[in-house]
Amino acid sequence: MSQKTAFITGITGQDGAYLSQLLLQKDYRVIGLAPRRSSSDLANWRLDWLGITDQVELLEGDLTDLASLIRIMTEHKPDEVYNLGAQSFVKASWQQPILTGTVTGIGAVNVLEAVRIVNPAIRCYQASTSEMYGLVQEPVQTETTPFYPRSPYAAAKLYAHWMTVNYRESFGMFTCSGVLFNHESPLRGIEFVTRKVTDAVARIHLGLADELRLGNIDAKRDWGHARDYVRAMWLMLQQDKADDYVVATGRTTTVREMAEIAFRHVDLNMERHLVIDPAFFRPAEVDILLGDPTKAKTTLGWSAETSLENMICEMVDADIARLKS
Ligand code: NAP
Ligand code: GDP
Repeated sequence: MSQKTAFITGITGQDGAYLSQLLLQKDYRVIGLAPRRSSSDLANWRLDWLGITDQVELLEGDLTDLASLIRIMTEHKPDEVYNLGAQSFVKASWQQPILTGTVTGIGAVNVLEAVRIVNPAIRCYQASTSEMYGLVQEPVQTETTPFYPRSPYAAAKLYAHWMTVNYRESFGMFTCSGVLFNHESPLRGIEFVTRKVTDAVARIHLGLADELRLGNIDAKRDWGHARDYVRAMWLMLQQDKADDYVVATGRTTTVREMAEIAFRHVDLNMERHLVIDPAFFRPAEVDILLGDPTKAKTTLGWSAETSLENMICEMVDADIARLKS
């Protein structure tokens, strides 16, 4: 069989880096969308960390520039497209709602349109999110739970989600939406709560800082490891039929308990260092998320392999190593 080509938007992000690594191991040719940034050396830090920067091809373009997507797909003829690019930070979406709608919402439709124009047989993955459940309508969220977005980010993702479903139903395209619950790793952006905690714990452990300022520590999330979750993305595109799947661990934990794991790992007492800071509360909160991954398990044969404890300890250790070097 000839080598497959995968085109990844958001290749420089957390999931893009792990997905690239997985697809390279499967002998794919991996190409990625590289939006113009002033410091291209910093943009590749995650691919560098995994040691795969030289094995992927970064192609200039932007999710908001339909022409660039059409040009890349025409020239490079991907078999699979993974749309992971987004303004992905919920809190920033209240400050930049129009940018979030344009990149995260319209950007996804630009990808779908480019595929429809260039080759509607290309298989597409859309990075949907548990944030779409927002004010949860059922205690455990499945593929049939009604959505109730609570942020401009979630509303933009919901639009992209329904457009993905719509292109499948309208044009018979192979478009899948993965409703992924929060997933983290040493490559997580530092503004997200897990990485903010593990970086702060590493700094306190090394004597470089003394406090950690957080917002709502009663919020609960279903946290998994990004390395496990990108496997589910790939599996979705290998099925006979396109469909949507919840990807989650089935366990929910408070921010407080997650932070306690990190502090305990280096024998620190969290109460001595934690400061609650109203600056980190949000205009509207998603209090609790808990996913049911039964469909992904039975249809894709997928399940989460990494426990929250192991993941948080891996992240603390990685942050300590990074700070030491
Ligand atoms: P991430 O680390 O924030 O990565 C986002 C990527 O999108 C980066 O490569 C970023 O490039 C790129 N990007 C931003 N604006 C762009 C534009 N205008 N054109 C092209 N690319 C652009 O996100 P992630 O954690 O890997 O998540 C991957 C996807 O899954 C995102 O769509 C996210 O919303 C979604 N998701 C994530 C989670 C989670 O818990 N991680 C859960 C559910 C869904 P720069 O770095 O150069 O800006
Ligand atoms: P999200 O679920 O995509 O918004 O992921 P985050 O990691 O940004 O936030 C997860 C939860 O942690 C949310 O309920 C936040 O309100 C809560 N949280 C509490 N303190 C903080 C903080 O200092 N930073 C962030 N990012 N989240 C915090």
